[in-house]
Amino acid sequence: MKYTVKDFNADFPNDAACLDYLFKNRWPDGGKCKCGKSNCFYPVNDRRSYACSWCGAQIYPAAGTIFHKSETSLRTWFFAIFLMSSSKNGVAALELERQLGVTYKTAHRMGHKIRELMKNGNTMLSGIVEADETYIGERISNMHKSKRPQKRSGLNDKTPVIGILERGGNIQAKVVGEVKRETLLPNIVENVQKGSFVCTDENFSYRGLRKAGFLHNTVQHQKRQYVFGNAHTNSIEGFWSQLKRSINGTFHHVFCFPFSAFCFHFVPLA
Ligand SMILES: [Zn+2]
Repeated sequence: MKYTVKDFNADFPNDAACLDYLFKNRWPDGGKCKCGKSNCFYPVNDRRSYACSWCGAQIYPAAGTIFHKSETSLRTWFFAIFLMSSSKNGVAALELERQLGVTYKTAHRMGHKIRELMKNGNTMLSGIVEADETYIGERISNMHKSKRPQKRSGLNDKTPVIGILERGGNIQAKVVGEVKRETLLPNIVENVQKGSFVCTDENFSYRGLRKAGFLHNTVQHQKRQYVFGNAHTNSIEGFWSQLKRSINGTFHHVFCFPFSAFCFHFVPLA
């Protein structure tokens, strides 16, 4: 389950690869230009932007993120996030300075911003919220063992991902070891404002949401009660399928990089 420096170097050899990663997270279906064309964007050389091949309009995958307007390279930022998310005890600014080859002042500022992001403190979801879980690609533990395709045995070989979506707002998704009550419930309590209306499927793990101070409505998929007023999970299920399409092939590997959890904060709803 370890994502090593070697993996990092293979996935993110340069700034262009980092920008491409942000682009794919933000526009998993390739994006749609204001001129009406879709799937029309190409990366602009030496700029943090993509341009439409029909009308030339530019879009900025890093806009609204901590990387935007920073003079520090994307790859340096990504590597800092890699270091900080793979260490349980935190990484001191001095260590970042040494590993990244930046000034102490820059290392300190970067460390601060990344820690803020990891805390999620100011991105509590609220209003009508959908929570759901899904299984993607191969299990992380299988990925680096062998280049040959692994034998699959249903869900056991897939990576569980849990997510919460605020309708008209942000999405938070992250890779977890196992989908169970101990992961699902605290994830909602920590990231959703009390009193919000939470829609989930009938997974037993979500029992206890009312007790925890939320309005809770379950969607009974077996009974084909897919849409009942506001009580549905269609938006997050749409997000899952978009995500799965975009991470076919090699991209599923990248998805398991812990960094993906941050990217989803910036995925705007269509
Ligand atoms: Zn265009």
